[in-house]
Amino acid sequence: MNTPSTPARKVIPIAALPGGGGGGNAGGLPPGADAEMVSLYAAHKKIYPRSVSGFFSRWRWAMVFLTQLVFYGLPWLEWGQRQAVLFDLGARRFYIFNLVLYPQDFIYLTGLLVVSAFSLFLFTAVAGRLWCGYTCPQTVYTEIFLWLEKLAEGDRAARLRRDAGPWTLDKLWRKGAKHFLWLAVALWTGFTFVGYFTPIHTLGREFVQLDMSAWENFWVFFYGLATYGNAGFMREQVCKHMCPYARFQSAMFDKDTLIVTYDQGRGEPRGARSKKAEPAKLNLGACVDCNLCVQVCPTGIDIRNGLQYECIGCGACADACDTIMDKMGYARGLVRYSTENAVHQGWGKAQTLRHVLRPRVLVYVAILATVVGAMALSLATRLPFKVDVVRDRGSLARIASGGRIENVYRLQLMNASESRQQFHIEARGVPGLQVASEPDVAVGATESRWVAVRLQAPFGAAPSGSHPIEFEITSQEAPGRLLEKSVFVVPH
Ligand code: SF4
Ligand code: SF4
Repeated sequence: MNTPSTPARKVIPIAALPGGGGGGNAGGLPPGADAEMVSLYAAHKKIYPRSVSGFFSRWRWAMVFLTQLVFYGLPWLEWGQRQAVLFDLGARRFYIFNLVLYPQDFIYLTGLLVVSAFSLFLFTAVAGRLWCGYTCPQTVYTEIFLWLEKLAEGDRAARLRRDAGPWTLDKLWRKGAKHFLWLAVALWTGFTFVGYFTPIHTLGREFVQLDMSAWENFWVFFYGLATYGNAGFMREQVCKHMCPYARFQSAMFDKDTLIVTYDQGRGEPRGARSKKAEPAKLNLGACVDCNLCVQVCPTGIDIRNGLQYECIGCGACADACDTIMDKMGYARGLVRYSTENAVHQGWGKAQTLRHVLRPRVLVYVAILATVVGAMALSLATRLPFKVDVVRDRGSLARIASGGRIENVYRLQLMNASESRQQFHIEARGVPGLQVASEPDVAVGATESRWVAVRLQAPFGAAPSGSHPIEFEITSQEAPGRLLEKSVFVVPH
C-alpha cells in the first residue's frame, strides 16, 4: 500500500517497456514514481540432484533394469529363423514372436493405443505420475546418465565444487570420461532402436564395417543424439516444458489420487534442532528443514510447497526424508505417497487404499479389461492368412471364348504364418459363376503374392449391370475361410 510519504512503485515487465529497456516515461508512471523492472525471462539454473537410496529408489532402479533389459535385449532374441520382434517397414510386415502382422492388421495398433491411453488414465487416477517417475524413457535415461555422471564426477557436492572451480586436468578428464560414457550409451540406444526396424545382426555387421545405409546412419545418430541431449542436458526441462502429459495430468487427479505429499500438519513449524531435543518443547514440527528433499529432487522443486506440476512422482524426496526421520528417531512418512483426503482427514493406509478404488477407477478397469479381452479373443481366433481383392481396372468385362462373360480381378494373398500355405479360390453370387484361372495358389511363409483371377459366368445368367459377388478363400494348412466382397459386371 502506498502512503503520501512513499513514492508510488510500479512493477513493469521489461518486455512491456519501449525497446524492452527502461528509457522514457516507462509505462506512464506518475511523476516521481519508481519503476521496478522485472524480466519475464527466467534463466535456467542447472540442477545437481543428489543421489538417494531407499524403498522408492530401489523400485525406480528395478524398473530401469526391467525396461532396459526388454529394450536392449528384445532385438537380439531369435524366433525360429528370424528376429523375434521386427518391424520390417520395407516389406510391410511386423513380426512379434509368432504373430506376423500386415498393414491390414492396423486395428491391433489402434487397440494397443487405446490400451496405452486407458492404462495411463488408470495409473494416473490411482497413483498420479507413476509412469513419469518410474518407467518414462526420459526418467529412465536421466537416471542412467546421472549414475554415469556420479561415476565420473562424484556426487552432488563434488560436482558443485568442480563446476564452480577453474578448469584443471582432473576436471577435463572427468568431464571427458562422462561425455564419452554418455555418448556410448546414447549411440547404443540409437543402434538398438534402429535394430527394431532392420535385422539387428545385419545392422551390427554393417556398423562394424562402416557400411550402414544413409537412413540407418541418420536414425542411429538422430535417436542417439536425442538421448544424449535429453538425458544429459535437458533433463527436467523436458518434463517441465516439453512433455504435454505434465500439462493435462492434473485433469486426471482428484482428492483420492495417490501423490507424493508433505504432511504439513506433522511437519510444521519446521526448524533445525538437535537429535536429543523435544520438538514439542521447541514448538517445532517433524521437519528439521535439512533441505535434503529439495537436493534429491530431479526437477529441483520443494515438495513442502504442495503439489506442483513439475513433480514427476519419483518418490526421491520421500526416500530422502525417511532417512532423516530414521536419524532423528521420528516416524517415517513425513513425505509419502498419500492422497489429499487422507492427509487432511488423517486416514490410515487401509482406509486410504479403499478410497483409491473409486467409481472412475473401476470404470477405467472395466474399459481396459473389455478392450484387452476383445484384442486377445481377436488374436486367438485370427486366421493365418489375409486377402485383398482389387478389380482389374484395365479390363472391365469382356466376352470370352464360348460366349461366356469374363471379369478379371487382382487378389493379394497374404500368408501370415511361418510355413508355406496352399490357397483355394472360389466365387459365388451370379448363377454359374466359376473361377476360370488357376484356383489353387501357393504362397511361401510370411510372404504375400498378387495373382490375376478370371471369373466367368454363362451369357444371360444375369441381366446387364453390376452384381455383388463374394470370393471365398480357404487354406489347406489352416481351418477357416475368408470371404471378400466384390462386383461382377455384365455388359449391355
Ligand atoms: S518433489 Fe519428490 S516426487 Fe516430486 S519430482 Fe521432486 S523428488 Fe520426485
Ligand atoms: S527432507 Fe524431510 S525433514 Fe528434511 S527438509 Fe525435507 S521434509 Fe523436512
